[in-house]
Order: sequence, then structure tokens, then C-alpha cells
Amino acid sequence: MPYSTDVHAIHCARCGQTPATAMILRDGLYWHASCWHEGARLLANAERIARSLTPPLGIPAPHS
Ligand SMILES: [Zn+2]
Repeated sequence: MPYSTDVHAIHCARCGQTPATAMILRDGLYWHASCWHEGARLLANAERIARSLTPPLGIPAPHS
């Protein structure tokens, strides 16, 4: 998992704050680990809600 070492040139893609800890590089953007995990949790919740809709929106179940 790549991390940046230049803390002055990057901002978190979710909260916009400068790094206080090591940043995660995902999808070409830098994220605080907590911001990345919170976004993943919200996306998983949105997918769960979307799958429960009738008619279904064609969102497949998670692979794991
Ligand atoms: Zn953040």
C-alpha cells in the first residue's frame, strides 16, 4: 500500500485536511485511513440499501 512522504503538497480527498498521519493512495487520490474506511463503510451501506429496493437496481452482492 503506497504512502506519501510530502505532507505539504497533499490533502485528503474526503475531508480536505492536510495529513496528520500517513496517507493512503487509492484511485489516484490521497486519503486519511479513517476517511477511506468511513467512505467504504458508507458505500457498503448504500449498496445494501440499494439491493433491498424493489425492483432491484442490478447491484451485485459483495464478493466476500
Ligand atoms: Zn481525511
